[in-house]
Amino acid sequence: MAPRKPPDPELAARVAELRERIAERARETGRDGDAITLVAVTKFHPPELVTDLAALGVRDIGESRHPEAAQKSAAVAEPSLRWHFVGQLQSNKARLVRAYADVIHSLDRPSLLRVLEGPDEPVSVFVQVNLTDDPGRGGVAPGELGVMVERVLAAPGLRLLGLMAVAGRDAEPGREFARVRELRDRVVLPLAPGAGSLSMGMSGDWPDAVAEGATHLRIGTAITGNRPIAA
Ligand SMILES: *Cc1c(COP(=O)(O)O)cnc(C)c1O
Repeated sequence: MAPRKPPDPELAARVAELRERIAERARETGRDGDAITLVAVTKFHPPELVTDLAALGVRDIGESRHPEAAQKSAAVAEPSLRWHFVGQLQSNKARLVRAYADVIHSLDRPSLLRVLEGPDEPVSVFVQVNLTDDPGRGGVAPGELGVMVERVLAAPGLRLLGLMAVAGRDAEPGREFARVRELRDRVVLPLAPGAGSLSMGMSGDWPDAVAEGATHLRIGTAITGNRPIAA
């Protein structure tokens, strides 16, 4: 078998620099850098990019669209990788996503529970919170979070990790992330003391997310460069 081409040196440099900046930001904000998982979001990119990232030691891959994610995870077939589904879940696809996703970040409405629960291998989930007044943005309203958490805890086959959020376009990300942390402390932890993880922070706002306690950064373009097709 011919040896694979080594990963693109620019990709390697971006990954190395980002890792260094995350570690630096963690030190600066009194966080333990080892408690922060970098999820490399590879939507719209070919499977080869994921293989390259795996060769660079990236273990967590994020995807946002089915069936692209299904095809890619099958094509890469790299058992050391953990696949994170971060995009909005359609009810009629959720069961299929569960089959390859190790972690679902976008549990954003109670009706998905019926579809995702079951006696299979447990799947780890984040409940997505909607911090805007626009119900179309996806996510559970803060006032409904407690009920949602209780339902997730009662659903067989789901393991609650914590909360996920996407900062609004015009928002100040630091303030939104602080609100997510506050919701975790006040609503989630009393019900589920083990579910303290926070999936928040993208290419443009991850330093604020680290400062507010993010445990999972979902970073696309800062690693991959621009996506081949506009998202
Ligand atoms: C695409 C995407 C990301 C990564 O976005 P970048 O700005 O490219 O870092 C993170 N989270 C979700 C939900 C996404 O859809």
